[in-house]
Amino acid sequence: MPLNILFAARPERWAVYEQPLRDAMRAADIAANLGTNIAPSEVDYIIYAPNSDLQDFTPYTRAKAVLNLWAGVEKITGNATLQIPLARMVDPGLTKGMVEWVTGHVMRYHLGLDIDILHTGTDWTPRMPPLAQERKVSILGMGALGAEATKTLVALGFDVAGWSRSPKSESGVTCFHGDQGLQDILKRSEILVLLLPDTPATANTIDKAALAAMPSGAFIINPGRGPLIDDDALISALDSGQIAHATLDVFRTEPLPAQHPYWAHPNVTVTPHIAAETRAVTASQVIIENIKRGEIGDDFLHLVDRTLGY
Ligand code: NAP
Repeated sequence: MPLNILFAARPERWAVYEQPLRDAMRAADIAANLGTNIAPSEVDYIIYAPNSDLQDFTPYTRAKAVLNLWAGVEKITGNATLQIPLARMVDPGLTKGMVEWVTGHVMRYHLGLDIDILHTGTDWTPRMPPLAQERKVSILGMGALGAEATKTLVALGFDVAGWSRSPKSESGVTCFHGDQGLQDILKRSEILVLLLPDTPATANTIDKAALAAMPSGAFIINPGRGPLIDDDALISALDSGQIAHATLDVFRTEPLPAQHPYWAHPNVTVTPHIAAETRAVTASQVIIENIKRGEIGDDFLHLVDRTLGY
């Protein structure tokens, strides 16, 4: 019986992914019928984007795994019809993109680049920003993306700390975990980067108390997910100057509604969920590697723990 791989995403994504997936299949020596229209009872693997029309997995009785095209899985973990393994996307291309985006925005705040870019007039006041080694940068979330971002920030010389659910050890990084760890890392976060997943446990991690615990005049960069932040609390902290500026890429409602106060706030930079995109060539290699593993009986890579939600 041929192997059947269903591609279930928005129709325009098929044009982006078809060739890279076929190339990755050829390179991995996998012969399969790959398409967007396969009878559910004959599908072996589902390559999946949570915004596709496929929301009921019940008819996919033969399927062995759902392979997510997105790193974030919050839109699928609660789907009760999904009873087979779910792998999330850990794509080297996406990771590189996120590391570059995070590093760029950290450098913007660290060097005070806005002062020069937005500068008008003839003011000639010399100033000297601290060196990276004197700047405390913290990353909440030490997973595929956060851990990689810490490596680049450490290489640049920053004083880097990270926070995760379970204890971690990362060269050159002060590692915190758990509730007390959150209090400890917030206290030292001059620049705070959020790379946590959206789960019931991470909602409103950055609330009024968390913002008050940070050093006065700190910066926040959120490429994680919108619900990590209590928006009203952040706007109050921005208004008071407790938080000097925030760069927000993700929001509770996307696109961010036109009347949302973030758009007009002078101390907020809004970016339209562009921090890091799955790259079709590298993502296809990861997906086909997982299918190969499934076929030879190896464990799938990047499995989601449905009880934890990530
Ligand atoms: P990941 O590998 O699953 O890592 C998640 C990290 O968060 C892990 O270190 C985990 O701790 C930690 N964590 C989870 N729940 C926690 C809790 N309750 N308390 C403390 N730490 C907790 O995820 P990833 O691939 O790095 O991606 C992170 C997120 O980035 C995604 O979920 C997605 O929302 C977002 N993202 C955004 C974009 C964009 O364009 N803006 C693109 C891709 C991804 P442990 O290590 O102990 O498990």
